[in-house]
Amino acid sequence: MEMVQDYFGCMVFDERVMKGVLSEKVYKSLKRTIDRGVPLDITVANAVASAMKDWAVSKGATHYTHWFQPETGVTAEKHDSFINPAPDGRVIMEFSGKELVKGEPDASSFPSGGLRATFEARGYTAWDPTSYAFIKDGTLYIPTAFCSYTGEALDKKVPLLRSMDALNVQALRILKLFGNTDVRCVKTSVGPEQEYFLIPEELYRQRKDLIMTGRTLFGAMPPKGQEMEDHYFGSIKPRIAEYMADLDKELWKLGILAKTKHNEVAPAQHELAPIYRTTNIAADNNQLTMEVMQKVAQKHGLVCLLHEKPFEGVNGSGKHNNWSISTDTGVNLLTPGKNPYENAQFLLFLSAVIKAVDDYQDLLRLSVATAGNDHRLGANEAPPAIISIFLGDELSGVLDAIENDTPYDSATRQKMQLGVGVLPEFSKDTTDRNRTSPFAFTGNKFEFRMLGSSNSISCANIHLNGAVAEVLRQFADELEQAEDFKTALHELVRRTIREHKRIIFNGNGYDDNWVAEAEKRGLLNLKTTADAMPRLLEKKNVEMLTRHKIFTESELHSRCDIMLDNYVKTVKIEALTMVDMVAKQILPAISRFSGDLAGNQVTRNITTKYETSVIKRISILMDEIFDADVALEEAVEELKKIDNSIEASAYVRDVVLPAMDKLRKPVDEAETLTAEDYFPFPTYDKLLFGVR
Ligand code: ADP
Ligand code: MG
Repeated sequence: MEMVQDYFGCMVFDERVMKGVLSEKVYKSLKRTIDRGVPLDITVANAVASAMKDWAVSKGATHYTHWFQPETGVTAEKHDSFINPAPDGRVIMEFSGKELVKGEPDASSFPSGGLRATFEARGYTAWDPTSYAFIKDGTLYIPTAFCSYTGEALDKKVPLLRSMDALNVQALRILKLFGNTDVRCVKTSVGPEQEYFLIPEELYRQRKDLIMTGRTLFGAMPPKGQEMEDHYFGSIKPRIAEYMADLDKELWKLGILAKTKHNEVAPAQHELAPIYRTTNIAADNNQLTMEVMQKVAQKHGLVCLLHEKPFEGVNGSGKHNNWSISTDTGVNLLTPGKNPYENAQFLLFLSAVIKAVDDYQDLLRLSVATAGNDHRLGANEAPPAIISIFLGDELSGVLDAIENDTPYDSATRQKMQLGVGVLPEFSKDTTDRNRTSPFAFTGNKFEFRMLGSSNSISCANIHLNGAVAEVLRQFADELEQAEDFKTALHELVRRTIREHKRIIFNGNGYDDNWVAEAEKRGLLNLKTTADAMPRLLEKKNVEMLTRHKIFTESELHSRCDIMLDNYVKTVKIEALTMVDMVAKQILPAISRFSGDLAGNQVTRNITTKYETSVIKRISILMDEIFDADVALEEAVEELKKIDNSIEASAYVRDVVLPAMDKLRKPVDEAETLTAEDYFPFPTYDKLLFGVR
C-alpha cells in the first residue's frame, strides 16, 4: 500500500531534499537567501544548480524551464534540455548557476502594454528561491519572476512580492509600538478555495463555444437546474471520485496541500481547497493546481472548466481568498487576543483592514475584474460588485461600543478601553457566517470572495496587501508621534470606526435593497471591467501603489491597458464565435428542421397544429436570429476601428455585450422547439447531467 507520507512532495526540491543533496555551507547560504533575501553568490548558485539537476535527472527529468506568470493570467514556460555535447559524440547533462538564476525567454509576444515597445523587446526571468522548484512531466520547473531589462515587472509575481514587502515594513513599525521587538518579519498567508466544473470530454468537443471561449454562449435551461440543491455536499459520483483521488495524488506529489473536496451548488460543479500558505507560494500552488486539474481531467475523459460562468442560469465558479497576516514568531495578527495588549493590537489591525477596504474599494474590485467574472459578480449567486465587509454581530457590537463609548456587555456594563479592557470570547459558530458578503471576517482571517475561478490570486493580494500597508503606514506615522500611546491608540481606532463604518454590512448582499442602501452610503458599485479597470489610474491609487514601490507609474498604465485589452479581446472572440455558430450550425439546423416539418405536411397532405405552430414560430425566430447576427457582426466591425483601450472597453460594455444577449435569446428559444437529433450540439441537460 502506497502511503501519502511517502510520496507527498516527491517531485519537489524542498527543504528535505536540499539538506540531503547540498553541502552544509551551500545549504546555509541558500537558506539565508530564502529566509532573508540575502543575494546569492554565483558559486552557491552553481552548486545548487548542479545538485538540482542531478536530483531532477534521477527522477527522469530531461528538461528545465523557467516558469512564470505573465500578465494575461496563465503561466508560461519554455523548455530547454540539460544536454550538452561531450567530446566522444555522446551527451552530458549540465545545468549551471547562471541558467538557474536567470533566463531569457524570447518574450516579445507577451503583453507588455507598451513597456517594451521600443528597442528592448526582451525580458528576463529571475529565480524566486522562496518558492520550491518541482518536476512535472519530465521537466524541472523553476519558479521565476519576469522583468524587463529596465527593471519593470512584466508578471504578477514581482508586484506580489513587492506588496508583501510593503506590508512587512509597515506592520513591523506597528508591532514595535506594541513592544513586539522579537518579530523579525510579517507575512500574509492565503488559502484559496477553488471551484470548477467537470463535463464529459466527448460533449465538450462538440461545442465550439466551449472550445473557443471556455463557456457556453447559447443554451436553454434544462427542466432541472440547481433548484433542488441536491448537489451541494451531495455524494460524489464514482467517476468524479476517481478524478478527485487522482488529482489529490498528483497535487500531493507536487507538494501542494490539497485538503478539502466536495460537490458545489450547481450540478457538475465541485470545489477543492488546500491548506493555507505564505501568499506567493499559495499563488504558485494555485496556478499549478488549475493546470493539474485540467490535465488530470483529460486522463479521465473529462474536461475541467475554470471559466467563471460556463452556463447561464446556474451558479458560476469563484475562488475564495482566505487571507491573514502573521509574524515569524507564529502569531496571527487577525486573531482576537486573550489579554488586553493582544486585544488592542488585534483591534488596530482590524481597523486597518476596515479602512483599507473602504479607501481602496475600487482597487479590490478591479483586482478581480475580467470579462468572465463580470457575469458572476452581482448575479444572485456571487457577492455583488459592491465591496463591503461582514464582521458578524459580536464584533460589530464591540466596535459600536468603542465608537460610542458605551458598554459592549450589558451584563457587566464593561466598557472597552483599548489596552486595558479584554474582548469578550467570540464564538466561532458557523451559523454566524454570511455567505453573501464579498469580504467576510471568519474568526481569524478575512475571506475575499469576489475572485473568479480562473483569476490568478496574485492580483487580489497585491492590492489587498498594498492597501493595508498604506493604512498601517498612516497609523504608524500617527502613533509614533503620540505622547501617550494608549490614549492615541484608542482615539485612532475610534476615529477609524466612525469614519469607515459605512463599509461594514452584516445583511444579505443579494438583497436588492442593499444596492440602494450602498449607494446612500456612498459605496462604489463598479459593475463591469470597463467601469472598474480605469480606476487603477486614479490619483490616490497611483500614489499609494508607487509610494510602496509595488508598481511604477508606467507599470500601472501598461497593466490597465493589458487588462482592458484582454477584456475587449475576450468578448470579441465570444462575439465572433456566436456569429460563426449561428451561420454554420444553428440557422442551417433549424432551417432543416422546420423545412422537414413543412415537407411532412405536404407529403401527408394534411396540416397538424404541432407542425404548423412550430414552423411559424421558428420562421419568426430565424428572422430575429438573422437580424441579431448581422447586428452583432456590425458591432464587432465597429469595435475593430477603436484603438484606445478605454473607449473599446466601453463600446464592448454598451454595444457588443447587449448585441450578444439579443442574439442569444431567440437561439435559446429555437433550441427548445427543435427536435434533439436536429440540434447541432449537446444541450445543457447533457452537459450538466452527463457524468454518470
Ligand atoms: P470554509 O468554511 O470557508 O470552507 P475553512 O475553514 O475550511 O473555511 O477554510 C477555508 C480555507 O481557509 C482553507 O484553504 C484554509 O486552509 C484557509 N485558512 C484557514 N485558516 C487560515 C488563516 N489563518 N489564514 C489564511 N487562510 C486560512
Ligand atoms: Mg469559504
